[in-house]
Amino acid sequence: MRTASAILFHRLIEVRENTWGAQFVLVDGREVSRRYLGGWTARAHVFSLTDEKGCDHKVEVQGTHTGLRMTRALLRVDGRVRQILELAPPGVSTRKCPHCGYSLIGQRARNDQVQCPECGRHTTLAQLGLDSADDLAPPPAQDM
Ligand SMILES: [Zn+2]
Repeated sequence: MRTASAILFHRLIEVRENTWGAQFVLVDGREVSRRYLGGWTARAHVFSLTDEKGCDHKVEVQGTHTGLRMTRALLRVDGRVRQILELAPPGVSTRKCPHCGYSLIGQRARNDQVQCPECGRHTTLAQLGLDSADDLAPPPAQDM
């Protein structure tokens, strides 16, 4: 299974694709959409989310495929692309800000939290799927 997650209106949006290509979208751990047959012909997952002011927004998750695998998912809010999610196997962190998608590699963690240099919001290492702040270190330029 491969997953990607994003935070939208203080909710955790999770996109999953299992080994057989089925796709699932979860909001705060609750499934809101699924397709047993994914693939590049699959339509977008559409659901609505209410923001902190009580306004409803149309959210779409559209997979982008490389071969038969969903490698990326476009997250649209009210028809506008908000974020591009990269799907990775569990335990493999994309090390990107779940709020805006900016790379957090090379950022320092404080109290197990990382502040995004792009949007200024905080994410915990656990939300990034990381065990320690060392995992945010840029890859070494060369092997010793
Ligand atoms: Zn950010």
